Amino acid sequence: MADKILIVEDELHIARMIRLELEREGYLCSCAHDGEAGLEAALSGEYDLVLLDIMLPKLDGLTVLQRLRQRSEVRVIMLTALGEIDDRVKGLDLGADDYLTKPFAMRELVARVRAALRHRASAGEETELSAGELRADRLAFRAFYGKEELTLTRKEFELLVFFMEHPDVVCSREQILREVWGYDYVGDTNLIDVYIRYLRTKIDDRFGVHYFRTVRGLGYAFGTGHE
Ligand code: CA
Repeated sequence: MADKILIVEDELHIARMIRLELEREGYLCSCAHDGEAGLEAALSGEYDLVLLDIMLPKLDGLTVLQRLRQRSEVRVIMLTALGEIDDRVKGLDLGADDYLTKPFAMRELVARVRAALRHRASAGEETELSAGELRADRLAFRAFYGKEELTLTRKEFELLVFFMEHPDVVCSREQILREVWGYDYVGDTNLIDVYIRYLRTKIDDRFGVHYFRTVRGLGYAFGTGHE
């Protein structure tokens, strides 16, 4: 079955271009042209991925994302205009998986879409990972510390799983970006620091442990939770 993608974009020519390109890649696409229609469609559960513009009539993209996340973990890539850095960070805070800055090249879009859809536990992979009191169930997309369930966005979960698969080794920001986000993305390794901060807040700070270690000049290492 081809993956289904919802394009929420009010600029009709951009929506059409994206749609043509993704259909050529074999995806099934639908479009919504304002925030309300976009939210309703995204909540239908029919889509594997949502491309969500920020500047939208009726309901802006960040509000759509916020409401969507109350009920759905569908993958979301935000489309932001150049210069809206705050919006990008806000989008990630609200649980977007990724963002693309307009104007973007179509092959960049396709690469990001592929990467966003790639991260699924496949048969044969070990489904349960653990490190100290920390456990992650890849199939269920759930993580626990002791008996407490963690509230993680999909991207945070994927990053945590990546670290749990690479214990006690130093991982560079570029490697993390490549393996978790799935593209060669030179420059904005900032994203990794933002996400590590989220995980530290939700795990290290909350439970008084120390899983995530910064290795100056090199990247990050994941340990057993205790120094
Ligand atoms: Ca727009």
